[in-house]
Amino acid sequence: MRKMNFAAGPSVMPLEVLEELQRNLVDYHGKGLSMVEASHRGGMFEEMYDECLSDFRSILGVPDDYDVYFLGGGATLQFTMIPMNFLLSGRHADYTRTGSWSNKAADDAAKLGNVNVIFDGKDGNYTSLPDPAEVKPSEGSCYLYLCSNETIGGIEWQSFPDTGSVPLIADMSSDFLSRPVDVSRFAMIYGGVQKNLGPAGAVFIIMRHDMLEHRNPGLTAYMDYAKHAKDKGLYNTPPVFSIWAVGLVLKWIKENGGAEGMERNAIMKSGYIYDVIDGSGFYRSPVDPRYRSRMNVVFRCPTEELEAKFVQEAQKEGMIGLKGHRSVGGLRASLYNALPMEDAASLAMFMKEFERRNG
Ligand SMILES: *Cc1c(COP(=O)(O)O)cnc(C)c1O
Repeated sequence: MRKMNFAAGPSVMPLEVLEELQRNLVDYHGKGLSMVEASHRGGMFEEMYDECLSDFRSILGVPDDYDVYFLGGGATLQFTMIPMNFLLSGRHADYTRTGSWSNKAADDAAKLGNVNVIFDGKDGNYTSLPDPAEVKPSEGSCYLYLCSNETIGGIEWQSFPDTGSVPLIADMSSDFLSRPVDVSRFAMIYGGVQKNLGPAGAVFIIMRHDMLEHRNPGLTAYMDYAKHAKDKGLYNTPPVFSIWAVGLVLKWIKENGGAEGMERNAIMKSGYIYDVIDGSGFYRSPVDPRYRSRMNVVFRCPTEELEAKFVQEAQKEGMIGLKGHRSVGGLRASLYNALPMEDAASLAMFMKEFERRNG
């Protein structure tokens, strides 16, 4: 029996994709070798990679003046690469601190240059976001940085600030392709693929090409976006297996209604869980309802003992990954694209049942 996987990342993948990987792992479509044995400079890889990049562009509607490619190093490496490239010496960049992931990005950037914090959710325990209409870049800022969905805190930007001529950079690791996004409003979007797009190992980069005109000098090869953009991510060996799987997930997304289809599903799945929370005197959401995440639903029971019991009993029902992040406690259901609708419905039913027995 396949588990109902509510883990925050690595996380559930579409079953069809896993089966397709299995069928072709040893012998890739009759070519006599595996994709993971093929050279990244050869036709077999290149054909697969080109298709992956072209599906990526078409699903999201990426404009032509943007480069798209994959790198290794996790989303975490980007916390360093972004300021190394774009936080120009003698200038500053604006950061929003909205939870664990943007805090890590801001902390790393502050080691490399001047960080100007334009929002810090610390006093509210990172349960809310600023009104996007009020978020303005400061004079002379190199870029404005945000995390579109705080995976641990469970808050998500529902719309994005207008930063004018200041480049807007977003970490979309945990809500990428769960809704349409107007790429042209961003100078750069990036994210680890292991939440919504595939197995760990790759990070996607979408970057407006003119960003490369203003970089710090003296960058080492791997740290220089221009090196990667020039060869669409093939400056060095890319994470081949992860890219292959992402390509299959992209096709699955296309077949299931694209970004719009994923958004409809995300609204329904998260709706099941939030409806239970809102209709209950037992569960509680710590998050500002205006910015609730559709990807990571964070909630509490009346006591920590009940939360532990919840996790244990859910596990017996085949539901895994429901324990909140160790830094915040509580419970968290991650409802990424590949999580079946029925699994979200089953969790909602289990929650009601658990409340009935323990409320
Ligand atoms: C998981 C996550 C990261 C870190 O990704 P790694 O690939 O582990 O480096 C960064 N940002 C967000 C929003 C995440 O959810």
